[in-house]
Amino acid sequence: MKIDAIFDNGRIRTMDGQRPAATRLGVLNGRIVGFDEELEGVTAERTVDLGGAAVLPGFHDAHYHASLTGARLASLDLRPGVIDSLDELYVAVRERAAGLGPNEWIRGSGYDQNIIGGHPTARALDQVSGGRPVLLEHVSGHMIVANTEAFTRAGYPGGYGVPEVDGGHVARTPDGRAEGLLQEQANRLIYAVVRPMALEEVQRNLALASHQAVSFGLTSLTEPGLAAWETIGNSPVDFHSYQVASETGVLKPRMTLMPYVTTLHNVPGFKDRDWYGLDLGIRTGFGGDRLKMGPVKIVSDGSFIGRSAAMHHCYHGEPENKGFMQFDPDALKRMIVGVHKAGWTVATHAIGDAAMDHAMDGIDEAQRQLPRPGVRHRIEHFALASDAQIQRAAALGIIPVPQGTFISDFGDGMMAAVEPELQNRIYRMKSLLNAGIVLPGSTDSPVSNGNPLRSIHDMVNRTTASGQVLAPAERLTVAEAVRAYTYGSAYAVNEEHNKGTLSRGLLADFVVLSEDLFGIDPAGIRDVTVRTTVIGGEVVYNDGDLPAPGATTQVDPIAAHRL
Ligand SMILES: [Zn+2]
Repeated sequence: MKIDAIFDNGRIRTMDGQRPAATRLGVLNGRIVGFDEELEGVTAERTVDLGGAAVLPGFHDAHYHASLTGARLASLDLRPGVIDSLDELYVAVRERAAGLGPNEWIRGSGYDQNIIGGHPTARALDQVSGGRPVLLEHVSGHMIVANTEAFTRAGYPGGYGVPEVDGGHVARTPDGRAEGLLQEQANRLIYAVVRPMALEEVQRNLALASHQAVSFGLTSLTEPGLAAWETIGNSPVDFHSYQVASETGVLKPRMTLMPYVTTLHNVPGFKDRDWYGLDLGIRTGFGGDRLKMGPVKIVSDGSFIGRSAAMHHCYHGEPENKGFMQFDPDALKRMIVGVHKAGWTVATHAIGDAAMDHAMDGIDEAQRQLPRPGVRHRIEHFALASDAQIQRAAALGIIPVPQGTFISDFGDGMMAAVEPELQNRIYRMKSLLNAGIVLPGSTDSPVSNGNPLRSIHDMVNRTTASGQVLAPAERLTVAEAVRAYTYGSAYAVNEEHNKGTLSRGLLADFVVLSEDLFGIDPAGIRDVTVRTTVIGGEVVYNDGDLPAPGATTQVDPIAAHRL
């Protein structure tokens, strides 16, 4: 018998209890057909020598914004470490402007006013932009700065006449002119000019994100919220954009896409029941191995470090502020019940413990009205949780989707945002496992960097940027963190029968690492790199560093990079 490929001489951890370790793996039609002695006497079109390197199932980020990640990569990088002062920022904008046409937008992202000494201003940006419009995004994604030409294009000549926006803020000079900074809902005033995004721009962004993702060993991604372009997504036809990118190979990882809830509507034509969904009755689970319809996404509250997430307690030092809900709790419940009854899985963004309770009330009510045992409704982030809330989530069959990297990126800010006695309730992962919940892994890229090895590092070490250990009892073992990033994320989209472990019959998606995560000091996990990424038995990324093959064919790095 001849199969497509044999990957030989690897230290393969399958994460499958039936056969935890192997050295050879055979592939036919993109799936695993056997290991080691099962391949005796079998020949293959290609044999790849893995050089004794460590192999794991491909990583799967359960909450990863692909097009936004690409947009960040395409724009001027203003993150701390790259830009550390306002002067450096203005110089960088001037240099970017010099390479652009006279009418093109200058886009930048990632600045932090705490580091650079304040927010940029419209007037100062006007000096360095040569008449071009400028749009800079804050590192949090919750604030932007625009220059005068950008306000003029938005219909406010010279920055005058900019209206107040509910749920937002417009910074102004004493004479009422927009100063540059916009917050929350006010960001729409400028985004309305640059969106919906052209299809070509979405393709470019997806290509950039895909290239980075495969270099990180990501073989599957779950995209949390598309097609509602005024709030989340790029254009009203985002699913088309992702389908094109997947078909053409621009987008390599397998994708599960979530439509945003406002793209759903009452589908007329049923005399006997309401149907809240998409036309044709398309819903969660539709699609194939490369591209699949995921849950419907609902954003119920705000941000933890932005102190807008809906909490039961006031934020530390702010006796009036408990955050707020984006939807009235009854409206949220109606939406959850409606989509549940139409066969959807629902993924609700809820960071504050009050928002989490409202989301769980909705799921509880939905299951009461129409029991759907085994449906895996999700709560994205699940950031501040009591023991009782974890037990309730487990009882309702809910999958919480926390982010590992938030611990090093935002851990200090989150700890400062709550009373000290609540700090041990932040991003609890061990407690979720102890309650019997299957835990996924994610980063919320580009909010945090999408590298899964950084995220696994944080799940194991839980060390913040300042060196504190955030809720030490919640540290995971390496095995638990890796399982979250493989099996757990697959389970969160009902795909564990298809991927998440390296087992016979499952997709041949795996990653070759510079070191065995299980054999090193956990403090060094974040420094481990990806040598090769394989999706469906095809090498999609290779750092060109595989050891010289013996009598076997070496992976062609040029072909591997043909993205
Ligand atoms: Zn997100």
